[in-house]
Amino acid sequence: MSHVTLPLSYSDQERFVKNLAIRPDKPDACWEWRGGRTATGGRFWLQGETRYPHIVAWLLANGDIPVGFQVLRTCKNRYCCRVSHMKLGHATRTTDENRKERFFAKTRPGAKRSHMDTPCLEWTGGHDIGGYGVTRFDGKQKKAHQVVWFFEHGVWIPRPGLIMHACDNPPCVNIEHLKLGDPGKNVKDRDQKGRQAQGPTHGSRTKPESVPRGVKNGRAKLKEFDVIQIRLTFAANANAHGIYEGLARRYRVDASTIRDAVTSKLWPRAKIEDYPTIKPIPLSELSFGHRKGEDSPFAKISDATVRAIQLEYDQAPKKWGMISKLARQFDISPSHVHRIVNGEAR
Ligand SMILES: [Zn+2]
Ligand SMILES: [Zn+2]
Repeated sequence: MSHVTLPLSYSDQERFVKNLAIRPDKPDACWEWRGGRTATGGRFWLQGETRYPHIVAWLLANGDIPVGFQVLRTCKNRYCCRVSHMKLGHATRTTDENRKERFFAKTRPGAKRSHMDTPCLEWTGGHDIGGYGVTRFDGKQKKAHQVVWFFEHGVWIPRPGLIMHACDNPPCVNIEHLKLGDPGKNVKDRDQKGRQAQGPTHGSRTKPESVPRGVKNGRAKLKEFDVIQIRLTFAANANAHGIYEGLARRYRVDASTIRDAVTSKLWPRAKIEDYPTIKPIPLSELSFGHRKGEDSPFAKISDATVRAIQLEYDQAPKKWGMISKLARQFDISPSHVHRIVNGEAR
């Protein structure tokens, strides 16, 4: 969070104080924030950014928050802005940094396999039957290599089997040993791993935008980008009834074209790993059966949710990965989050 510039202008101070419910009749009462609110606390627009009002109150009284500390409220009232109800505590919030630290505390250096340039880094926490590391992340059971992929790329790969271990060592979480496979081929026979070892290197990858493969076959309504997204969506929801039809409606093609995209008949050389930022389409955005209005998924979001999304985004110290994080948190599509934080949608 960037810092509030002190002192506040007179008009900002006036605007701030006007929103505090000060109770002179009750000397110990909370001073609640009466301005904009979100699920996580108050919201005060200041110096071009959304701020938590209790932080503004703290800064007005104390000047700053020492590094490594956070402001806690002794009254536990998330809307309280009374500085005498606040104290400093060690920053224990689950920031990206200490969440990474906790994750990597459960790893140890492994052996260097002959076909790899670097040694493995092995997960020492729990393992599943296949030997893959498992861990809890945001309250959900995840594969350890899925989490490390998220740390590196800011993207969740919904089906962890799509992330291949070039080292053939399932508990390995060395990001250099992980690469995305093709759900059209590799998922089915992912147990035959040996051939992954000599996979293409980064340098030899084709530049997808420079070679319009697939355009010749007449059904090239689908761009390479679309095909990758279709494969990812299919891989994440292969058991969903009507998935082909749902995707067909979404891309305005027929279901057999979607099937060809999934089985790599269409764009056979398109590689998921060339597009690490493409995410699958949430099932909630695909229409099954009846056709929804294009904007219908967006109409469900309340003003409060929109504000919460803007606030969370504005306050995030690092924007990288925030769009996909917020999409998961609020269960809407990343493109919708993107439009919200850009003020283009609500
Ligand atoms: Zn209070
Ligand atoms: Zn490895």
